[in-house]
Amino acid sequence: MIIEKLENQERLSFKEALSLYDLDLFTLGKYANKIRTQIFERKTYFNINRHINPTNICKDVCQFCAYSSSRKNPNPYTMSHEEILQTVDDSLKKEIKEVHIVSAHNPDTGLKWYLDVFKKIKDKYPQLHVKALTAAEIHFLSTEYNLSYEEIIQKMIESGVDSMPGGGAEIFDEELRKRICGGKVSSQQWLHIHKLWHNKGKQSNATMLFGHIETREHRIDHMLRLRDLQDETHGFNAFIPLVYQKENNFLNVKEYPTGQEILKTFAIARIVLDNIPNLKAYWVTSSIKLALLAQEFGANDLDGTIQKESINSAAGANSANGMPLEQFVQVIQNSGFTPVERDSVYNELKFY
Ligand code: SF4
Repeated sequence: MIIEKLENQERLSFKEALSLYDLDLFTLGKYANKIRTQIFERKTYFNINRHINPTNICKDVCQFCAYSSSRKNPNPYTMSHEEILQTVDDSLKKEIKEVHIVSAHNPDTGLKWYLDVFKKIKDKYPQLHVKALTAAEIHFLSTEYNLSYEEIIQKMIESGVDSMPGGGAEIFDEELRKRICGGKVSSQQWLHIHKLWHNKGKQSNATMLFGHIETREHRIDHMLRLRDLQDETHGFNAFIPLVYQKENNFLNVKEYPTGQEILKTFAIARIVLDNIPNLKAYWVTSSIKLALLAQEFGANDLDGTIQKESINSAAGANSANGMPLEQFVQVIQNSGFTPVERDSVYNELKFY
């Protein structure tokens, strides 16, 4: 029955989607890869980007976090605007097209501090795509400054933010969310903020943090809530399953997901999320080797060169210094795929 549905590429219910985990990895891979190939052939997208994490001082206390200085990171910092602009200047020499700015929830920096830095970047480099502020940060700023989500979003747009990253979604199940990141933006609020953003004609990404204490049911529930919103708004351009990093945090996870479980989750995401075009294997959290393998299981995007990353590397990911462009292109080619540089909204820029 499920095979027939997969053959016909029919939309799956919760129960059917969950039953995909019972299939063997290669059967799942076959169907996920078929969909990927129909849309993207052997192309794999990436962008030349720079991640900037301006502060790690946070009023929230997520159990899985290794980045915030209020967790296990004994290194509080806040970058000045000059430092951020200098970072952008330096990165432009490496031909970045996007700057990706996400932070902890620092009550001392202030809304103006965020908006001013976006504006300064945009004024100086109008061609640069600014991807900034997760729904969790928007919720934090809205609460802190007693402004509606709509007001924050309007200010973001006026300050030059082009698109929203997908962070802060974690896992949508309310009970689980209370345990791993109680106090942060709720699932409903996260979805609502993205809906408001999409209603402005803007695009965003969606993430899912998995491989910690969630079950397979929680992952399917998470994907289906995204699928429902996407039916309404069509504003998500990529889904990004983030593999939980286990070091330096308070979640104390004993069992780590196997490579097989991670690849199954990618393949299932490709099959279930029939309305979100791009599936990103964010190599920072899955490791580059598994991300390359995920290309055979539905993933068509490997994010980018990143250059520097502080959030996941604090929890054990091998990503602190990103990856040089030549190496990035080469590993994709060596894995049998065609690297295609894209812009932030998935226009194709250059074939390698
Ligand atoms: S995950 Fe983000 S919001 Fe949660 S404690 Fe860490 S920095 Fe703060």
